[in-house]
Amino acid sequence: MSHKAWFQCASGCDERYELNEVIYKCKKCGNLLEVKHDIEKLKHRSPKSWMRLLDERYRRTKWPYGSSVWGKKEMVCPNVSDDNVVSLYEGGSNLFWAERLGKIMGVEDLWIKQCGNAHTGSFKDLGMTVLVSMVKQMISEGKEILGVACASTGDTSAALAAYCAAAGIPAIVFLPKDKVSTAQLIQPIANGALTLSLDTDFDGCMEIVREICSKNKIYLANSMNSLRIEGQKTVSIELVQQFDWEVPDVIIVPGGNLGNVSALGKGFILMKDIGIINKLPRIVCVQASKANPLYQSYLKGFKEFKPVKAQKTLASAIQIGNPVSINKAIKILKMFNGIVEEATEDELANAAALADRTGLFNCPHTGVALAALSKLVKKNEIKKNEQIVIISTAHGLKFTDFKIRYHENKLDEVNPKYVNLPVELPPEYEVVKKTIFEKLETVNKL
Ligand SMILES: *Cc1c(COP(=O)(O)O)cnc(C)c1O
Ligand SMILES: [Zn+2]
Repeated sequence: MSHKAWFQCASGCDERYELNEVIYKCKKCGNLLEVKHDIEKLKHRSPKSWMRLLDERYRRTKWPYGSSVWGKKEMVCPNVSDDNVVSLYEGGSNLFWAERLGKIMGVEDLWIKQCGNAHTGSFKDLGMTVLVSMVKQMISEGKEILGVACASTGDTSAALAAYCAAAGIPAIVFLPKDKVSTAQLIQPIANGALTLSLDTDFDGCMEIVREICSKNKIYLANSMNSLRIEGQKTVSIELVQQFDWEVPDVIIVPGGNLGNVSALGKGFILMKDIGIINKLPRIVCVQASKANPLYQSYLKGFKEFKPVKAQKTLASAIQIGNPVSINKAIKILKMFNGIVEEATEDELANAAALADRTGLFNCPHTGVALAALSKLVKKNEIKKNEQIVIISTAHGLKFTDFKIRYHENKLDEVNPKYVNLPVELPPEYEVVKKTIFEKLETVNKL
């Protein structure tokens, strides 16, 4: 059975375009496009049979279905032929019960979905595999695409660079100068991307890359390109799959450009349409107080939206004042009984450090999600017996600077509560022993 997907205008004007067309916005009304699937055709297979098929493929080696994105190919991007898939075996990230952290935070059933345990260290791989595969497909069909470009707060460029390097396609990444971590900067450099460091912020890079791509044969890889959303939406399918096809009560996700929260919702809607699930979770989107345009809009019941000038935040991947996917995100939040919360620098850094003390190793964005959870539990908006999933978006090793400066008490506006510094000692048995027994009582206690 051949499945097919297409771009469709998200504004309701219903214009359609082929997925192998170089297009990001509706030609008629200028709105963002969405990838649509033939749901009737997907329903030819029963929900039970889909679950069995997806489970059979999950993390096996049959190309390209072992990848948790391509294992769901019919629901993601059936239009790419298997030979043109550019995959690094994405998805399949661990989902675990954070028992100790949950207890400390006053909830009974807290789970962490470690999307940062990924090829390039963030969830961005899930979407980039789809986008770069479609580019390879278009090139193989004879379309002239000279390269693929993106603006990035760090992780998108790392993913684009890796997938393009794997496919041998030129990648061009636009980074705001001095606003990404060293680890994030070294990734595109190592993968051979043309790395442009612009003296502006993310929103400034975005403006230029849009112009470059609209006037030249360079393909735009930012999340206004809805192919990426298709890959990213597999996080919801995968997580339900990991819960043996049960839906959790609440999912908390940090949001910047708001592609990921839109993708999360889209995955659940698809599963419900096909009949794989029959209820929806509540979705909580969280922002740093320094870059909180969605939160501001939420406070006004989403009646209006105003972009803000994003201030510098430790949660650098969500330092975005004018999110591209704002309309999609608001639509999803309304459908999913959504909540938006914010976290200050102090709250996010301490939440990340507290979680680290229970065995995690969190990026600052996951810190934002954890801080928001704490606040929402205190306000009783999240109940202590609900099953809660935190979407951890990147690997902590990408943000070692943040962690070192936390423990050295060098972060602005942060009063660190969980400092743990190395103890310098002479190499002498008695001194070492004395120190151990002086400190032992406090080690791993909270
Ligand atoms: C991209 C990113 C986000 C934000 O996702 P959006 O789709 O822009 O809302 C959050 N955390 C990390 C680590 C990211 O790389
Ligand atoms: Zn339109």
